[in-house]
Amino acid sequence: ALTAGIVGLPNVGKSTLFNAITQAGIESANYPFCTIEPNVGIVEVPDHRLQKLTELVQPKKTVPTTFEFTDIAGIVKGASKGEGLGNKFLSHIREVDAICHVVRCFEDENITHVSGKVDPVDDIETINLELILADLESVDKRIDRVGKMAKQKDKEAMAEHEVLVMLKEALEAENPARTVEFTDEQQKYAKRMHLLTAKPVLYVANVSEDDVADPSGNEYVKRVKEYAAKDNAEVIVVCARIEEEISELEGEEKQEFLSELGIEESGLDQLIRAAYSLIGLATYFTAGVQEVRAWTFRKGMKAPQCAGVIHTDFERGFIRAETVSYEDLVAGGSMNAAKEAGKVRLEGKEYVVQDGDVIHFRFNV
Ligand code: GDP
Repeated sequence: ALTAGIVGLPNVGKSTLFNAITQAGIESANYPFCTIEPNVGIVEVPDHRLQKLTELVQPKKTVPTTFEFTDIAGIVKGASKGEGLGNKFLSHIREVDAICHVVRCFEDENITHVSGKVDPVDDIETINLELILADLESVDKRIDRVGKMAKQKDKEAMAEHEVLVMLKEALEAENPARTVEFTDEQQKYAKRMHLLTAKPVLYVANVSEDDVADPSGNEYVKRVKEYAAKDNAEVIVVCARIEEEISELEGEEKQEFLSELGIEESGLDQLIRAAYSLIGLATYFTAGVQEVRAWTFRKGMKAPQCAGVIHTDFERGFIRAETVSYEDLVAGGSMNAAKEAGKVRLEGKEYVVQDGDVIHFRFNV
């Protein structure tokens, strides 16, 4: 499954946040057929559209879709040189699809900071530098190999070499690989490198209890946002300690606690949705009287592939996707009304499914 890795320097609040994730998340007892690794937390993806569809259809049950976070412990300075847990840390990052980088934006005399003072931008750069150095090493190795073939005028090798040099230049200037602009053709070679700094990133600013309701006065958050803007990265503000408390609550209790705090949506829920879309994931729905359910697909997937998310038989026997957008269905008030209004389309094999589509698949068995 696709997963977002949680990284950050020691003492920034990663374990606290991850604890909130596993507490809020699905219990492995409910999934006896699969073992959930201790460093993996599976959470439901919050989606207000699911409630609305439930009201409309009145199904027997409603099933949200899920998302996976991986806790990546143990970054230390010098990771790229294999110090401490360094190598292991980097190999774990290699396996995730996006990075949620937690930084400390709260002051607390009782909690030591690894570099002596709270400076989230410095923290970001410390980790980024380790990732950049590790990538530089991979690129240099590959340049050695490909360079020889490029000298012999091997066309493929020459094209790849060009890409590698672009990457090397960026990395040497301490810019992550994701900032380099490639053509589709070049992207092919770049992707093959599986670089750490090519992965999409978002920053999680961990603030104190006092700042959750209104983080605008927090200077650290401001600096993180400025930094992130250069990279087009999103910043999610959380208070990990409060998220831990929220994660013990559900439904109305949770809602009440949130309004007491003066916030609309928990930081964790915002983080889940942000990480989900950062990876390029989107949601379509099935809405029958038995079950209203959200399903995850990758943006760009066509109707048969999306049917395959439910069951491989659905993909193999795919005939048509009876599709209505969430907005049209809600505006119509019922599936029949949407049909009468001509809003329900019969889509074929080439249809690219959109976020929010409500679909009934027709297939041969
Ligand atoms: P990790 O090393 O990054 O996993 O950090 P931890 O989650 O273990 O947190 C380090 C310390 O900071 C612990 O004592 C936490 O209780 C504390 N901490 C974490 N988040 C917050 C927060 O939002 N506010 C405050 N005041 N302390 C926090």
